[in-house]
Amino acid sequence: EAKRNGRNRHEHFTLAMDDVARSRRVIENDLREAISGRQLKLYYQPITNGDNKTIIGYEALMRWHHPIKGLIMPNDFIPIAEETGLIHMLGAFALYDACREAASWEGEQSVSVNLSPLQFKNSSLVSVVEGALQESGLNPSRLEVEITESVLLDDSLGNIRTLESLKALGVQIALDDFGTGYSSLSYLRSFPFDKIKIDKSFINDMGDSREALAIIRAITGMSRSLDIQITAEGVESSEQFAKLREEGCTLFQGYLFGRPQPSELRLKALS
Ligand code: C2E
Ligand code: MG
Ligand code: MG
Ligand code: MG
Repeated sequence: EAKRNGRNRHEHFTLAMDDVARSRRVIENDLREAISGRQLKLYYQPITNGDNKTIIGYEALMRWHHPIKGLIMPNDFIPIAEETGLIHMLGAFALYDACREAASWEGEQSVSVNLSPLQFKNSSLVSVVEGALQESGLNPSRLEVEITESVLLDDSLGNIRTLESLKALGVQIALDDFGTGYSSLSYLRSFPFDKIKIDKSFINDMGDSREALAIIRAITGMSRSLDIQITAEGVESSEQFAKLREEGCTLFQGYLFGRPQPSELRLKALS
């Protein structure tokens, strides 16, 4: 009996694995269609300065409007795009679309685009960025790319060269989700980042975790001497905002200031 149960469980497990693989393949095919069928859309979330809550820029965040499944969030499709190589197409779409969008704005706000570490494996990354800037006519200083620490981890020399080429175009470089993963302060010596974004988990925890607050303090303290701007992400309450200002954060992003919105709604919110 036990043996039979065991085998059953094993079969269930295999079936479940098949299901996972099958649904991945379905998503992969759907994602191919999404790119050509204009189902991918960038939403824009404001980034404000601390003094007068002026919007100094927007982060472009991708959304997938699936014809049947509805709204799909990036954490549910970016990993699949990365596994299947579709990330290069997706990434180029984000860069071109965000630059075009920002070039149409009245003001001089910047636009931030997330880059997957895998995009650094493609030798054409720099020319894709160049192409997006040229096609849109956007001043390069208004484009910011956000990378994560993992870009500095593997093949770091090649990737740092790529970052230097992007920098040479006049693009701003931000280190995203700082404090998570392998996080080492020594990364900050390997490249002159314009900005560091403190991961929202620290902002979320800072109210009741002394450790979270201590890490925020270490990051802001160091940034002062390195002359790097610090963005706090995931700011949801005015208490967090006040405390983060006190600690020396200079830029803020979070639901307190605005959620990611499609560009049509972004304009409505401004008027
Ligand atoms: P991220 O770059 O760290 O972006 C910030 C995430 O925090 C976004 O999630 C944003 O909607 C969310 N957020 C902002 N303010 C708040 C807040 O006050 N509270 C809470 N709970 N969340 C807040 P989203 O849009 O789901 O994106 C998740 C991640 O997916 C991004 O994290 C980024 O790593 C990735 N991603 C999004 N768009 C792209 C893209 O175009 N290309 C690539 N490669 N990755 C992308
Ligand atoms: Mg980001
Ligand atoms: Mg982030
Ligand atoms: Mg994050």
